[in-house]
Amino acid sequence: MSEASELYQQVILDHNKNPRNYGDLPSHTHSSEGYNPLCGDHYHVYLIMDGDTIKDIHFAGTGCAISKASASVMTTLLKGKTRAQAEDLFKQFHDLVTSPVEQTPDEDALGKLAVFAGVREYPSRVKCASLAWHTMKAAVDKNGQAVSTE
Ligand code: ZN
Repeated sequence: MSEASELYQQVILDHNKNPRNYGDLPSHTHSSEGYNPLCGDHYHVYLIMDGDTIKDIHFAGTGCAISKASASVMTTLLKGKTRAQAEDLFKQFHDLVTSPVEQTPDEDALGKLAVFAGVREYPSRVKCASLAWHTMKAAVDKNGQAVSTE
C-alpha cells in the first residue's frame, strides 16, 4: 500500500468510527432517504436550507465503512455551501470515483474528497461511496423522496 492510500484508509476508518454530523436534525427543512440494496447501506440525510445555502446538514443510518465515511466527509464539506457548490462537489466526487484507477487524482483540487480515490479499485463500492451524495441531492431537489442506487 502506498503512503497516500494508507493515510486515506486511516481517514475513512476514523470517519466510520466517529462519524461527523451524525443523528437527526430536528428542525430540518429538507430530507431524503437513500438505499443501496446491493450492500444494505441505508441512510437519511437532513438539511436546514436558508434560501440557497446549506446552513446545516446531518445524516443518520447504517451501512458499510465506505458508505458511512463518505456520508460523514460529505457533511463536513457541505455545511455553509450553496446548492450550486454542493452540486459541483458531487460532480467532482463522482468524476473521481468513476475515473480510471491509473489516473492520478488532483489532490489539491479535490481536498478531502481525495481519500475516496481508492474506491476506484473496488467498482462494487462506488455505489456505497456515492449513496449519501445521491441522497443529499434528492433531499435538495425532491425534498422527502427516497432514492435507491438500483
Ligand atoms: Zn456499502
